[in-house]
Amino acid sequence: MLPFFTDPYPDELIYSAVARYHCYSGNIDCKDTLEEVFQSRSVIPSVEIGSHFSVLVEQLGSNYSIESLLAYHTIYPYYAPFLSKHRQEELLQDFQGDGQGLYTRLGMVAGGICKKDGLFYCPECATNDIEQHGEPYIHREHQLQGIDFCAYHEQKLKKYPIDFSKQSRIEFIRFDKKLMNLSMIQEVEPKEFVAIQIALAKMGHQLLQVPIQQFSRESINLKYRALLRERNLVTTSNRLRQNELYKVFRSKFPKGFLDKYESAINVNDEYNWLKVITRNLKRHVHPFRHLLMLYFLEQDVESFLQIEADTGPFGSGPWPCLNKAANHYKEFVIHEVNVTRDFKSNAPIGTFECSCGFIYARKGPDRLSEDKYRIGRIKAFGDIWKAKLRELEAEGTYSTRTLAKMLDVDSKTVKKYLSSEIKIERLSENDIPSTLLIYRKQLLKGIRQYPSCSRTQIRKCFPKEYMYLYRRDKEWLFEQLPTIQERKNNQVIVDWALRDHEYCSMVKKLYKELIELGKPIRITISIVGKRLGILSNLEKHLINYPVLKSSCLKLRNLLSNSKSDVVVRLLIEYYRGKNQLYYGKYSVLEL
Ligand SMILES: [Zn+2]
Ligand SMILES: [Zn+2]
Repeated sequence: MLPFFTDPYPDELIYSAVARYHCYSGNIDCKDTLEEVFQSRSVIPSVEIGSHFSVLVEQLGSNYSIESLLAYHTIYPYYAPFLSKHRQEELLQDFQGDGQGLYTRLGMVAGGICKKDGLFYCPECATNDIEQHGEPYIHREHQLQGIDFCAYHEQKLKKYPIDFSKQSRIEFIRFDKKLMNLSMIQEVEPKEFVAIQIALAKMGHQLLQVPIQQFSRESINLKYRALLRERNLVTTSNRLRQNELYKVFRSKFPKGFLDKYESAINVNDEYNWLKVITRNLKRHVHPFRHLLMLYFLEQDVESFLQIEADTGPFGSGPWPCLNKAANHYKEFVIHEVNVTRDFKSNAPIGTFECSCGFIYARKGPDRLSEDKYRIGRIKAFGDIWKAKLRELEAEGTYSTRTLAKMLDVDSKTVKKYLSSEIKIERLSENDIPSTLLIYRKQLLKGIRQYPSCSRTQIRKCFPKEYMYLYRRDKEWLFEQLPTIQERKNNQVIVDWALRDHEYCSMVKKLYKELIELGKPIRITISIVGKRLGILSNLEKHLINYPVLKSSCLKLRNLLSNSKSDVVVRLLIEYYRGKNQLYYGKYSVLEL
């Protein structure tokens, strides 16, 4: 462990702290400093990040950890949130070791844009540092690629006059106030650029405060998607409208701005950075371009990190059942949403189907968390809802309007579902409400206990159960009840023989009248029955009229001997087992 160390100042690069250590240690040869700090004479000092952190941490003592050095004294946090989880882990390994391949992994070499050709400082920050600490130091914030302004003082950053190409790679550079220009006179910049540059600088500053392992390329991407969806730049089928995105993105920046920051977009390039940043998770995009994206989305880093990851136009499930009649009302019991597209507006439509039979739909995308409770249209009420409606109605104390309110529908719907035409569909075993099951059991028990009871008696013994089941489960109820018994009392005793004779003469008489009509007429059972006022008796009890039957057969024989060319005949045939009368129209030739 080192006997002393120049503890880094706020936002100071670890490189700068080591440079100050070199100065205060009295070492003349930089290699001695390297050996003391990194225990190796061959380490190449790196300005932005560094390596050999595990040795460094050991040398510095217990006040430091690799993570804290990385988070507070390197520019790694500028990159970290935009790296994949996997890449973040690889890099943590690199920092501990010799740092070989580190820059490639970070994408600084391959994807480096807006590379800085030196060390930068803000004159106002430097002035403050000299006042507060007695010396200027290298702020990591001022070394970020693409960032040209100080986030605090909104001052253009100045380049420290030293030529890297002439400087030995192992020599540490320590800011010397004599070489710094601390005047606050601003260079002239295009006005419309400055506001954006300052906004980006502030975001760069915010990025450095974000915990290095909290976000990753994967989660960032879903946040982008959520914001792009809000701008209607994502289709229902989850595709990005790249052309539209390109147009609106371009129009967000003044002419020349993107070119100046090496971030112009070539539409014809399948791998232009705007396409990659929005859809390709494997390739990394420079953090500065992420900041451009945030600027386009009208976010800063803080607000952006609060954005909930996109999970489609209706968020991630589960979703609540909005059936007011169900005891799981507003509980998150629906696990799937079916997303379709609105034919007219192209907006996504989500359909939510609960196991209780209630199905609702609404137009998306959802914007607020309250949207989860919004019903656009009810597609089906389901059996539980219908049963509840009848149950409430059976209580007899509620008006239609109150019922409508209680079930969260309009009065029309209540009326419609209460009208007798709507039959309650049979319930499937899973969806049967428990009351119904209990009542069914009680009633069955009663029927078995008193097998000789009539329907009326059963109804009197179990009025509550009977009425409940009558309303909700009529079909089942009638299947279980004893068959309707013939009434024994007050029964009119019919003299079938007498009636048969009466009918027979009536039909004969009518027949004569009918065939004497000018026009031939088709003689049917309903004409005979209606004219004689005995239709229902004829239809129901034919079997009881043997005389009528035989006279009709006699008539038929008679008619078949007739010489008329076309005769309308009354043909009565009694088909055994079918209990049907046939009156037909035949020509003589046919017979
Ligand atoms: Zn400043
Ligand atoms: Zn439900």
